[in-house]
Amino acid sequence: MEIPKTMYAAVFYGVGDLRYEALPVPTLEADEVLVQVQTCGLCQSDIKKLRYPLLDPPRIFGHETSGTIVKVGEAVENWQPGNRVVVMHHIPCFHCAYCLNENYSMCKVYKEVTTTAGHIPSGGGFSQYVKVPGHIVRCGGLLSIPDLVSFEEASFVEPTNCCLKAVKKAQIQPGQWVLITGAGPIGLMFAMLCRHFGARTIVTDLLPSRQERARQLGADVALDARAVNLTEQIQEITGLGVDVTLLAVPSTQAFTQALDATRKGGKILFFAEFPEAVEIPLDPNILYRREIDLLGSYSSSYKVQALSAQLVFEKRIDVAALISDFYPLSDLSAAVEQAIHPSERTCKILIKP
Ligand SMILES: [Zn+2]
Ligand SMILES: [Zn+2]
Repeated sequence: MEIPKTMYAAVFYGVGDLRYEALPVPTLEADEVLVQVQTCGLCQSDIKKLRYPLLDPPRIFGHETSGTIVKVGEAVENWQPGNRVVVMHHIPCFHCAYCLNENYSMCKVYKEVTTTAGHIPSGGGFSQYVKVPGHIVRCGGLLSIPDLVSFEEASFVEPTNCCLKAVKKAQIQPGQWVLITGAGPIGLMFAMLCRHFGARTIVTDLLPSRQERARQLGADVALDARAVNLTEQIQEITGLGVDVTLLAVPSTQAFTQALDATRKGGKILFFAEFPEAVEIPLDPNILYRREIDLLGSYSSSYKVQALSAQLVFEKRIDVAALISDFYPLSDLSAAVEQAIHPSERTCKILIKP
């Protein structure tokens, strides 16, 4: 396979300064793998990193990557050019104190060792080629895509993992009622996963078109997040209130609604990342007297990686139904713009280099 010397990537040089430019194709160490990117999903976390000065430039983001292996280092044994793969951008060390407690996303290696297309390693999926470090190659960070699964579908393994981790953390059981605030791609994926595991869902969103899509994708109920009698509606449907609320939008109002809608002894899980320095006033006695558990779930978990891949590859959840737009890599800024100002039909945006 002929690999060019230079490639194009969307490079972050600071807030509002995203440049589509040529740079060298990464060179490989003996234990590394080079992947030609076919699809990279645009994630809320990418959008946040592009819009706020959180990380020093220059960087190439993008981590929901699927593609074709084009080159392997001489010490790599199980992979070869032509293999179609999902690339996990982080893999934990498996033996630090966090890993031994299965808090893999807190592991130092997990946070620091990542796939890269050049510059400060940051995922690198918004590029034509991405390099996979030896640790990730050796420890299960490449997943083989079955023949009948497209690159587009395969790019959903990483976000499915993040959502599945949250569903497992909240210990959602068959027959339970789950409130999902927000019917963007994450909220809808939550609805599909909850349904897969036999739970019933109430999805809230501001946009009627998104409420409608939630119903089409299997939410039992979709409600207007602004309805003045939202709590009463939820009480009427569920009796006690919901067993679990998954906060898929960073909204203080959604949290207040969650406190009202979640039953005694229920759980509220923070999934969406709030803007910096937001503080939510909270009466601790609500948690004490009603025994509400507050949980957080960040990023993915190695523990649910195999199941995430299985759910996507065996089409147990219909990730293709979430795709609304494709953008070429050269138009990443326009894709971000659309995600920030969604039209009625905007859902998951995929980038094609
Ligand atoms: Zn993501
Ligand atoms: Zn570790």
